[in-house]
Formats: sequence, structure tokens, C-alpha cells
Amino acid sequence: MARRLQPTLTEIGDAARALRQGKLVAFPTETVYGLGGDATSDRAVAAIFSAKGRPSFNPLIVHVASATDAVQFAEVSANAQAVARSFWPGPLTMVLPRRRDCRISLLATAGLDSVAIRVPAHTIAQTLLTMTGLPLAAPSANPSGRLSPTSADHVLADLGDNVEFVIDGGACTVGVESTVLSLLDDKPRILRPGGVPAEAIAEVLQEPVTIETGAEDSAAPRSPGRLLSHYAPSLPVRLNAAAAEPGEILLGFGPSAPKDALNLSPIGDLQEAAANLFALLRRLDDPQYCAIAVMPVPETGLGIAINDRLRRAAAAR
Ligand code: AMP
Ligand code: MG
Repeated sequence: MARRLQPTLTEIGDAARALRQGKLVAFPTETVYGLGGDATSDRAVAAIFSAKGRPSFNPLIVHVASATDAVQFAEVSANAQAVARSFWPGPLTMVLPRRRDCRISLLATAGLDSVAIRVPAHTIAQTLLTMTGLPLAAPSANPSGRLSPTSADHVLADLGDNVEFVIDGGACTVGVESTVLSLLDDKPRILRPGGVPAEAIAEVLQEPVTIETGAEDSAAPRSPGRLLSHYAPSLPVRLNAAAAEPGEILLGFGPSAPKDALNLSPIGDLQEAAANLFALLRRLDDPQYCAIAVMPVPETGLGIAINDRLRRAAAAR
């Protein structure tokens, strides 16, 4: 069971140390409690998906201490700077182009070329971010399909077995999620309404802001080429392969895979497989091969989200 921490510098320091060791810590923000993990660690991010029990990988919001930190990970346009000046720290997330040298886990951004970033205003979240010195991936700290938690008790009841610590900061003041604003193209769009209203953003940008929701939180893919066009390999993908056919390259899983194959997890661990998934798909997507043959991954736990992603890669043609 997770330990409840008081928001003293000493105990937030314990939480920061755990995060640096790749463990998960739930912490309060002004919107809802977040399930935090090191956003640069594929393993920590895989543990977040595992704890939430989601049937698919959706991109996670990366929390940083200040707008200056955001510049390390994303291309921050003049529009993005204006929005940051007005609404950060606060309940606003910006979806921005990922920098080429971005250290954020590919699993955290679900293989996308964009990254969602927020600077939370809550003092405890701020202190934790500053003490860890890491960007923290932190979706709402609830199991998939359950209500977002606005108190430490909610988190302990729902996810107590899956996190190291819950920092108790009392009730969240905003109580709804952050507004997710995409600035990926010239038309600013709200992908999820939340703590900051569209009109306030439109006023800062001096242009209309469209609200595009619908696919939010659904397991269905947003149509490719649109908001959430997920990375799909350019090579065809063949699922449930026992071995590679001539010209194919094999993506293995488990101990029965050939020793020389790239392997999602040689010991058959689904969390390790999830951590490796996006990076390995990119590595194998090489025009010297005619297709990627993927060995079967069990349809349990994180395997459900892994297979969801693989099926989409196989279908994306
Ligand atoms: P949360 O569970 O609070 O972390 O919610 C994350 C929200 O941000 C979801 O609505 C995601 O679809 C959205 N999001 C995160 N990253 C991206 C991205 N790179 N592109 C588009 N939407 C994103
Ligand atoms: Mg949520």
C-alpha cells in the first residue's frame, strides 16, 4: 500500500527521490491529482499505463516547473510564448512540436511528433518538479474509466497498490482537468475543454480558437493525419508471426524468439515490452526490409494496449 506523505520539504524530498529512481508518486495539482513518473523513462511511463490499466496508449501530459523548462522539449512558437505568459503556471496544457533532441519517452507521447506540456500552479507540484529536476508525466491518478481524483483519499482507494507515495495536499481547487490547446498548426484548437476557457485564449492570441473534442479519452484512433495521427511504421506490419519470412525483419517477444532478433522483452515482461515498443518500431522501420513481422504478445494487462497499438500499425495503410 502506498504511503501518504505530508507536504513538508522532507517528505516531498522523499517523493522526489522515488521519482528519480523510476517509481510512481501521486501528487496534487490545482486540477486533479496526478499519477506522476519520470517522463524521460520508458519504464516509468510504462508503469503509469500499467497502473491505470488503460486498454490503449494515449499521449500523456508532461509537467514541468516553468516555461523555461518547456523549451528543452518542445518548439515554442511566438503564439505559444504568449499563451505561456498569460496562463502558466495554471490549468492549461499546450500541444507543441517535439524538439528533435527531446528526451521525453516516446511512450509518453504515444510515438507522436508532438508533446503536451503544462506548468502546474500548485505549490506542492511546483516544489516536487523543482526538487526532482525532471519532467513528470502525470495523467489523472485514477484507474482507466474511473473518475478523476481530487483528494489523496481518492487516490489511495483507487491506486494505493500501484504507487510508492501519495502526497496529501488536501482537495484540488480547480477540480476539472487542464484545457488542452494544440498549437501544432496555424489554427489554435482546443482538444479538451478544461480549467482555462477558450475565450480567454482567443483574447490572448487575438484570433478565434476552435473547440474540437469528441475522440477525447476514447480508445478509437483519431483519423490519421488529424490531431492525433499516431506514428505508424512505413513498412507493412504482420502480426502473430512465428518467424520472419524472407525480406522481413522480426520483432520478437519472450524467450522463444530467436536470440538475434530485436526483442520487446526477452523475459516476456509486458511492462518492459511497453517501454520498448515505440523505440523498437522506429528502429525496425527501415526500407531495406519489406515488412515487420511481430511475434504474438499476450492479450492481458499492458499486452492489451500493446496489441491495440500493433493492430493499428498493421492496419494503417
Ligand atoms: P491526461 O490523462 O490528463 O494526461 O490527459 C492527456 C490529454 O492530453 C488527452 O486528452 C490527450 O489526448 C491530450 N494529449 C496529450 N499529448 C498530446 C499530443 N501530443 N497531441 C494531442 N493531444 C495530446
Ligand atoms: Mg484522466
